[in-house]
Amino acid sequence: MAEEEYRKIELIMALRNQGIRDTNVLRALERVPRENFVPPSFVDQAYDDQSLPIECGQTISQPFIVAYMTEKLQVGDRDKVLEIGTGSGYQTAVLAQLCRRVYTMERYRTLRQAAEQRLADMRMVNVTYLTGDGYKGWPQQAPFDRIIVTAAAPDIPDALVDQLKEGGIMVLPLNVQTGELEKPYQQIVRVTKTEYGLEEETLIDVRFVPMVPGVAREM
Ligand code: SAH
Repeated sequence: MAEEEYRKIELIMALRNQGIRDTNVLRALERVPRENFVPPSFVDQAYDDQSLPIECGQTISQPFIVAYMTEKLQVGDRDKVLEIGTGSGYQTAVLAQLCRRVYTMERYRTLRQAAEQRLADMRMVNVTYLTGDGYKGWPQQAPFDRIIVTAAAPDIPDALVDQLKEGGIMVLPLNVQTGELEKPYQQIVRVTKTEYGLEEETLIDVRFVPMVPGVAREM
């Protein structure tokens, strides 16, 4: 067996041991070759359970966090999913295995283009891309069954709540108030939109790059 395949299986087993039990999610991670999403100099670390740097000072998320957020999103195969923060397109590719279509937004045009090319090369056709500001969401394609945000916001963006279907679920990292000397961190929050309003569950502590308003000027 190729070294990479062996390391991938080890990673999937480690994710199971860390509590990821949804076999559809585990299978989706198994199907997506993470080595295609990391910069060439990091290929040997593609199956380590850690985030890695990508272009534009951004990161590809840690496999555990991708698996965890995807599991909490409870994606169904008929779902229309909005993703904010395409980055490398790794989380996008995992979602694309599980749902009807992913609508993914990224504020850096270069990252969006690279991710689009990468997923097209892998024949992942159920993804639509947009360079735009995730704080505004994608009103032309709303409403969405599921929304996932992979950058850290101070609060739940109103536009995203508006664009979520009733009964829909949104998973996102929200900033936690910290002291001046403390490193900023977030908590994963799962929001369910009900007829009575929003139900919020706070889950695990995480570290994400910030969600920055507007489209990036440096491309
Ligand atoms: N899911 C990605 C993680 C990328 S890091 C992966 O696995 O590779 C988060 C991404 O969110 C970055 O690429 C950043 O540019 C993007 N981002 C930050 N603020 C944004 C905004 N307001 N709208 C859209 N994308 C944003």
